[in-house]
Amino acid sequence: MNGDSERVAPCCAASRRIEAPDPAPLDDHGDVVGAAREDDRRRRKLLEAITDAHVHLWPDGIYRALWRWFDDNAWKIRFRATADETARALAASGVRRAVSLVYAHKPGIARTLNAFAREMARAHPWLVALGTVSPDDHDAIEVVREALGPMGLRGIKLHCHVQKTPIDDPRVVAILRECAAAGAPAVVHCGRAPASDAYGVDTHEICDHARCERVLQAIPSLTLVVPHLGLDEIGPYLSLVDRYEGLYLDTSMACAEYFEQRIDWSEIERRSDRIAYGTDFPIIPFEYDRELRVIARRITTDAAFERIVRGTSAKLWPE
Ligand SMILES: [Zn+2]
Repeated sequence: MNGDSERVAPCCAASRRIEAPDPAPLDDHGDVVGAAREDDRRRRKLLEAITDAHVHLWPDGIYRALWRWFDDNAWKIRFRATADETARALAASGVRRAVSLVYAHKPGIARTLNAFAREMARAHPWLVALGTVSPDDHDAIEVVREALGPMGLRGIKLHCHVQKTPIDDPRVVAILRECAAAGAPAVVHCGRAPASDAYGVDTHEICDHARCERVLQAIPSLTLVVPHLGLDEIGPYLSLVDRYEGLYLDTSMACAEYFEQRIDWSEIERRSDRIAYGTDFPIIPFEYDRELRVIARRITTDAAFERIVRGTSAKLWPE
């Protein structure tokens, strides 16, 4: 999977597979300044007590299904354990707060997932638990109201690929209006990547930044978090951040120097008040702190680093 033609293929070929090489060891590419910056920040304990704005805690059966799906269609998930063990591993890795996400891959399961998310947050009060809903749920609006009201969940997570539904689908827009009305952030994977035939939908067909912009125009009071910096349209999403004050991005996997897409770090630094560090743990093929280490090397000022690893999340989900 190393030839250039194969790297290009996922964007233009009719059939798509997720490009998922085994991760190369983190390489400082001779960046002595970056490596020294990471060491210095580690010494000053700036890599401790961080907030991870994107983790996944699932019931055991769903974890097992995800491991199988990723084994067959994407990367090898490295850390495989129960939700409880996963939460404890996060805490042991220096995480002080984590935003825990579930998504409903079919109708009828959102309430079960939301109850599970609430239980996890009760067991681990440092978790910020979000709920979910399927756009195909006949009572989707009720599910959202319960989640954000009596259940006390801190937002709603949707996944356009898994749910096979564009963000500007009227049913999704109605769900997002509920989030806006409740003042709760929505986390929506509406970027096109990683694209895979295994989703059973053409993610390039149903996802692009123009659809996201239509939603931001339609619901000006919406707080929307787009994961993975909007891969593979990072540039267009960064410019949407400049134009829509309710739009935020999380870094999950995009900043780990794993995917091919190049990051313009000065552009990330400039918008650090709207970008939150997140990892996608444990659905990742590399060690937990890889992305944090890259960010600690590449972001030049402590103030911007602080916003990315703590401040932006605190703004989205105040304690
Ligand atoms: Zn995720």
